[in-house]
Amino acid sequence: MQDQFDFSSYGQQVRKFCRALMSSGRNVVQISGRMHLLAVAAERDLARFGVSPETSRIACGPGCGACCVLNVTVLMPEAIAITWFLQRRFSAEELEILRTRLQELRRLTRWLDDEERLYLRKPCAFLDECGSCMIHTVRPLLCRAITSTDPELCRDAIAMVPLDGAPNVEMDLFQKKLIETVYCELGWALEYLGLDHRPKRLSSAVLNLLADPEMIALYTSGESVPIN
Ligand code: SF4
Repeated sequence: MQDQFDFSSYGQQVRKFCRALMSSGRNVVQISGRMHLLAVAAERDLARFGVSPETSRIACGPGCGACCVLNVTVLMPEAIAITWFLQRRFSAEELEILRTRLQELRRLTRWLDDEERLYLRKPCAFLDECGSCMIHTVRPLLCRAITSTDPELCRDAIAMVPLDGAPNVEMDLFQKKLIETVYCELGWALEYLGLDHRPKRLSSAVLNLLADPEMIALYTSGESVPIN
């Protein structure tokens, strides 16, 4: 099934779907609901078209946050959905702790490229002490793209990055390509609709939205959002 999958026509369908999804009703609840629908549709497509020996060997799960030391970028609707989730699910005290973690992560990583960020091995602010993602149900699309079929090899590869000669991580490449297609097509749809479509760093975008909810109105009016 994977061999015959036509990514080009899939991308066109996703672009149409994203345009329809984002073309009306843009308050925070609607945007969050639409990001949920998009993630559900992508997971459904993966289950339908992506079954392969690699898929059945995916070893990722709660307790392994080995790859959560990479730079993660999000599109604004994703950041809005994550912020909305935090505001509903976290107490004021938990939000304050999270804000401090996000600020520290931003301070340490905002100017680092992907390789430098890996060297630093500073975990994502959303990774809890048990190695699970606190925002798993609303996690960014690009986090959903990364998988590993061999957790040991995955941990070794990340540990050995500064030493060169890190082993290649075996992953489900179909899942990676499908989710990256959804992310890119969402970006194209936002651009078509005159909305800010530039990728933002996850920690910076969420911090800014937590600090200033007016940014959502700025975003939906078609202005570029000044994330810092
Ligand atoms: S958002 Fe979740 S899955 Fe993505 S890097 Fe952070 S902890 Fe990992």
